Amino acid sequence: MRGIGASDGYGIGKVVVKKELSVPKKAYIEDVEAEIQKIENAFIAAEKDLESEYEQKVETLGKEHGEIFKAHIAMLQDPELKKTICDLVEKEKVTATYSTQMAIDQFVAVFQSMDNEYFRERALDIKDIGVRILKKLLNISDSGFEGEGLVIVAKDLTPSDTAKIDKKQIEGFITAIGGSTSHSAIIARTLGVPAIMGVSGIVEAVKDGDIIIVDGFTGDVFINPTKELLHEYELKKVEYEAKKKELMIYKEQPSVTKDGHHIEIGANIASPDDVEPALENGAEGVGLFRSEFIFMNRTEAPNETEQYIAYKAVLEGMGKRPVVIRTLDAGGDKKIPYLNIPEEMNPFLGYRAIRYCLVETDLFKVQLRALMRASVFGNLKIMFPMISSVEEIRNSKKILDEVKSELDAEGIAYDPNVEVGIMIEIPAAAVISDVLAKEVDFFSIGTNDLIQYTTAVDRMNENIKALYTPYHPAVLRLVHTTIKNGNAGGIWVGMCGSVAGNPLIFPILIAMGLHEFSMSPGQILKSRKIASLYTLEYLNEVLAHVLSLGTAEEVETYLKATFTH
Ligand code: PEP
Ligand code: MG
Repeated sequence: MRGIGASDGYGIGKVVVKKELSVPKKAYIEDVEAEIQKIENAFIAAEKDLESEYEQKVETLGKEHGEIFKAHIAMLQDPELKKTICDLVEKEKVTATYSTQMAIDQFVAVFQSMDNEYFRERALDIKDIGVRILKKLLNISDSGFEGEGLVIVAKDLTPSDTAKIDKKQIEGFITAIGGSTSHSAIIARTLGVPAIMGVSGIVEAVKDGDIIIVDGFTGDVFINPTKELLHEYELKKVEYEAKKKELMIYKEQPSVTKDGHHIEIGANIASPDDVEPALENGAEGVGLFRSEFIFMNRTEAPNETEQYIAYKAVLEGMGKRPVVIRTLDAGGDKKIPYLNIPEEMNPFLGYRAIRYCLVETDLFKVQLRALMRASVFGNLKIMFPMISSVEEIRNSKKILDEVKSELDAEGIAYDPNVEVGIMIEIPAAAVISDVLAKEVDFFSIGTNDLIQYTTAVDRMNENIKALYTPYHPAVLRLVHTTIKNGNAGGIWVGMCGSVAGNPLIFPILIAMGLHEFSMSPGQILKSRKIASLYTLEYLNEVLAHVLSLGTAEEVETYLKATFTH
C-alpha cells in the first residue's frame, strides 16, 4: 500500500492497531438523573486523568509537552459541551454514551466546517476529548502501547495518542488519513520516527502482530513482506543508520572548507525540547528559534513568566553558543486564533509578524521583557521578522529600549549587549540591505518567504509548487546582494530559510560570503561534511558560473552536475 512519506527513515516492526471505540448505539433510559450523574462523574474522571497526564509529561519531558493536555482540560471545562450532552439526555431520554457521541459529532461538524484551518484541526482535539469521556462512561481503561519494535497503525493519531508514545517503543507510524503537515507527522519528525500518512484502508488491511515495513522516504508500506523484501529493507535500514552514524565524526569538528575557511552551522528550533536534538547533531548555535510555536496550541498568549522560562531553558541548554530568538512571527500560514488577526484576502501579505507586534505593543513588550530577562543565562540575539523598512526597525528598537528602561527602573538584570538583528525575507529589505545594515547587528536571510515574495509564488499552493524554486536567478541575486551589503556594512549575515540546508546551494553561499547557516538539526552534519570537501577558490569559480546563468533550470542542472557529494 502507499501513502505520503511524512517522516524519513525505514521502520520494520510488529503492527499494533490502535483500537477505535465502537460507536454507541441509540438506546433509551428511564432514570434521567442517574444518567446525568454518570456524565458528571465521567467529566470529573476525565479531567483528573488529564491533570495527571499533564503533570507526568511536564515532569518527564518539560512544560512544552504538557500544553496539549492543558488545552484539552480547557475544552473539557467549557460548559457548552457538558450542557449539550445533558440536554440530549433530558430531551430525548437516551443513554449518556449515545448523547455524548451525538454531541461530539455536532461539535466536530461545526469545527470541520470552519474556514480557518486552525479551527478545522481542533476537530481532532474534540474527538479526542469525546473518546476520553466515552471510555470513562464505558469503564474502559486507557493504557499506552506495550512492547517494543512497534509500528502503530491507526485511522488517525490524536494529539494525546502521540503525546503518550515513547520513542524507544516505536519503529514507525502509519495512519489512514492526514498529510505531511498533520500533527502526528510533525511529532514523528521531531521524534525522528519514520511515518506514512494517508494510507486509506490500512486499518482494515492489517491485524496486531503482522510484520510491516515502513518506507518513510517513498511512502510505501509492505504488509507481511516476503523474506527477500524483508532482507532488502533490513539492509537499507542498516545502510541508512550507518550513513547517519558515519556523519557523527563531524559532530565535534569545526565547520570549515577544505582550505580552512570558517563558517558556523546552527539549528532551527521551535521549542526548548529541540535543544537536545540540535546538540546531538553538532549545532554550533541556534540560528532561529521560531518563538511563535510557544504561542500555538493554547487558548491565550503565554505570559511573561512562561515565555521567560522557555527562553531561559533554550539559552541554558545551548551554553555559551549563540541563540537567535525571533520575536512573534504570527500570521500567514501560522495561525494563532486568539490573537484575533482577521481573515484576509492575502494573509501572507497582510497584518502579521512585526506589523502586528508594532500595533499590539503590550503583547510585544511582554515578549521583549521575557527575552531580556532571560538574556543573562546565555548568548542571546533578538531578531525581528518580516522587516521591510528602516522605520519598522527603529520602531521595534524603540520599544526594546523602553523595555530596557523599565527593567532598569525595576532593578531587573539583563545583558545590555544583546545583539539585535532582522530577517531579510521581503525583497524590499534585500534591495535596501545596504541601508538596513546601518541599523542592526546582523541579518538572517529567510529564503522560505524571500522566494515566495520574489517570485510571487505562494509557498503553500500545491498547484504552483514547481514555480517555487530557490534556483531562480532573481532569488540568488537578492541573496548575494544582501550578503555583500551586510559584509560591507560590517555586520554578520546568516541564513535560516530552508535554502541554507540545500546541499547544492549551501556551498555557493559560502562563496557568497555567508557566515552563519541555520537548518533542521538533521541536516547539520551532512552540511559540515560538504563544506569540508571544497576549497573556497573552487567554490568561487562555481559561484561565478552560477551567476552568469539566466534560468532556474540552468542553475539547477549545472549545480547537480557539479556537486555530486
Ligand atoms: C523564512 O521565511 O525563510 C523563515 C525562516 O521563516 P518562516 O519559515 O518561519 O516563515
Ligand atoms: Mg518567514
